Amino acid sequence: MILVLKPEATEEQFQHVLERVKELGFTPHVSRGQLRTIVGAIGDENVPQAEEWFNTLPGVEQVLRIQKPYKLASREFHKADTVVEVGATKIGGGHLGLIAGPCAVENYEFLDEIAGRVRAAGANLLRGGAFKPRTSPYSFQGLGEKGLQILREVGDKHGLPIVTEVMDPRQVELVCRYADMLQVGARNMQNFDLLKEVGQAKRPVLLKRGMSATVKDLLMSAEYILAAGTKDVVLVERGVRSFEESTRNMLDLASVPNIKGQSHLPVIVDPSHATGRPDLIPSMALAAVAAGADGVHV
Ligand code: PEP
Ligand code: MN
Repeated sequence: MILVLKPEATEEQFQHVLERVKELGFTPHVSRGQLRTIVGAIGDENVPQAEEWFNTLPGVEQVLRIQKPYKLASREFHKADTVVEVGATKIGGGHLGLIAGPCAVENYEFLDEIAGRVRAAGANLLRGGAFKPRTSPYSFQGLGEKGLQILREVGDKHGLPIVTEVMDPRQVELVCRYADMLQVGARNMQNFDLLKEVGQAKRPVLLKRGMSATVKDLLMSAEYILAAGTKDVVLVERGVRSFEESTRNMLDLASVPNIKGQSHLPVIVDPSHATGRPDLIPSMALAAVAAGADGVHV
């Protein structure tokens, strides 16, 4: 449920609302707009009389039920576009996140060379995997902590904040020591224990759409992270599985305006993993921005 406070509600009334929300077994999430404060009461909406109760609280103007199964991620809860800040880089609300870098960090020299080039090309966030989710257990699994150290050093050298994937709840603390933003990959989009752990770290999160996940599934996964305490989640459309064999995945560009209509979270597009084809990346990156994406991930 959403409790919309009156513009003239006092700080005392606001605090009182928070206490009552907690007393009834809900978790309060506050969203302060320019004119109004909104308190999301997240929990079981079937608590008897909760709505009536909230309606009687001084300072509350309106109580609304959020119709969508995701609450904190919904536009109903938060009307304005969320702007996610990663270091000096902003993503969303008219700011383009241009995330670029290699799939995996292989060594210092290689990453240093790539970082120089992507920075010169306009990238404002450096990416690279240190823990890699590989289809084959015999493929290169990433450099682990050594890869994180290299990323941090190279990012600092080129003045780029860094984002890297975390695959396991037990890695979150380690990755947080190095990274400015945590990436949850397509294969882990519904690893709910990981989402909760990542949400508790209070670091910005790049959440990639699972290869067979619906838009609703993606938003429910974002909800896990938001409910755990992080406000800054960026969603990534990276293509879904299809019958087509000439591209790696099928880029669902319609998901960009589709998601943005339903959620305030920034959405960026990854044309690289979506197509698996360098020749298609420039046009798909442009198409993504034309469709309203808040950035690209190359
Ligand atoms: C990646 O970003 O390198 C990656 C593995 O992507 P995805 O999770 O989208 O497959
Ligand atoms: Mn990759």
